[in-house]
Amino acid sequence: MSHRAALLCGLAALLASGCFEGGGGAAKNLLLISLDTTRADHLSLYGYEHVTSPRIDAVAAAGHRFDAAYSVMPSTLPAHAAMFTSLHPRELGVRGNGMPVPSTAYTLAERLVEQGFATAAFVSAVPLHARLGLDQGFQHYDEPPVKRPGNETRTRALDWLRRQGEGRFFLFVHLYDPHTWYEAPESARTRFGAPGGRQPPARDFLRDASDLSPAMRKDAIAAYDAEIHFADAQVGALLDGLEALGLREDTLVVVTSDHGETLDELIDPYGYAFDHGEFLHGRELRIPLVMSLPPALDLPASGVHDTLVSLLDLMPTFLELLGLPCTAPCLGRSLVPLLDGEGISPQPVYAERRRLTEEERRAPPSPWLQGDEMSVTSEDWHFVEAGGRPPELFDRLGDPQETRNLAAARPEVVARMQRLIDAWRASHALAEASGVPVDPEVLEALRSLGYATEGDAP
Ligand SMILES: [Zn+2]
Repeated sequence: MSHRAALLCGLAALLASGCFEGGGGAAKNLLLISLDTTRADHLSLYGYEHVTSPRIDAVAAAGHRFDAAYSVMPSTLPAHAAMFTSLHPRELGVRGNGMPVPSTAYTLAERLVEQGFATAAFVSAVPLHARLGLDQGFQHYDEPPVKRPGNETRTRALDWLRRQGEGRFFLFVHLYDPHTWYEAPESARTRFGAPGGRQPPARDFLRDASDLSPAMRKDAIAAYDAEIHFADAQVGALLDGLEALGLREDTLVVVTSDHGETLDELIDPYGYAFDHGEFLHGRELRIPLVMSLPPALDLPASGVHDTLVSLLDLMPTFLELLGLPCTAPCLGRSLVPLLDGEGISPQPVYAERRRLTEEERRAPPSPWLQGDEMSVTSEDWHFVEAGGRPPELFDRLGDPQETRNLAAARPEVVARMQRLIDAWRASHALAEASGVPVDPEVLEALRSLGYATEGDAP
């Protein structure tokens, strides 16, 4: 019997018994940690030149590391909504920050609370505010008015964990530190030679960031790395707390991100820097994904996987590992066969740019910010269709930093990739926004962090 067959048998027994009795081929609990704005190539576990993520590196070394994990929209709420529903933002109607998750969505937390899990979320910034609908299914949802550093979030999460009894739990922790502005504590900054204060010092990315000197860009990147290191330390503290409570062995631990970040790569062509949401390059889409499996799962404890996977795959994977069938209309697929060393057939990953606000549509702040834009990532290529810019085609494995646009040289590949996008778009209906008005205070808090939002019609 394969590991996966054994797992499924264990699940059947678990379902028949109706309660979790330990072992049985399933994980008891789930701890999901999301590091906002964390691009995979700036983590040391993915080969970055500086040691930014020692604690996550250790999880990856002893567990499973996914080398080709991608977001489906480089915006915070849409990406998390995709993570929690296995639906693409386009189908969910959550195509930008401030566009609420519809109450009709069936979330991972709803699925788990129905099964008797204690569910709690500790988020660090207003894009994930409860009034934006990501709280569905969470019995406890803890959030700051605008944002807070990760050490405060993890302290509150661990306090909640200490109050739990013997039952199963789903704990979601969101760390916002690697999001602009970068302002890590001094201990983290000095490690990377980053200056104090807010970095980068100037920020009007939709119009022009080209006034950032090379020295300022270098400082801002060092400050970004410092924030990642600080967030990594919070991950470590959460794992230490889990261990101290004797829960580590029963808990499926997953660390990922909602999307990456453009640093200074696009200053020269577009005057764009230190942000995300408007471009669909690999630096904004490729995310870290590591999993630590409980021994009860009877799956290989570790593995490195280069198959393309996406945020949509998380919910069906978690449900299977927790011993629960996926009853939601998941667009993603379970990664358990990969964890079991069996492999899954390669599938492209489709990503979409955030929906522009009405104001941006009427008068784009920059010429490149007009029209819709999608990308598709295949095993060999990363293609961004023409929106307000010419199409871009990159050799995914040969040019991971995407420095050479091969669109003009490989028109046949461009045509093939565009057909993929056209077919995907045609078969994935554009859902209407939920139409739920958002609290003006939430919109104001979003704007204070630099998010583009639309008044009362998000
Ligand atoms: Zn984000």
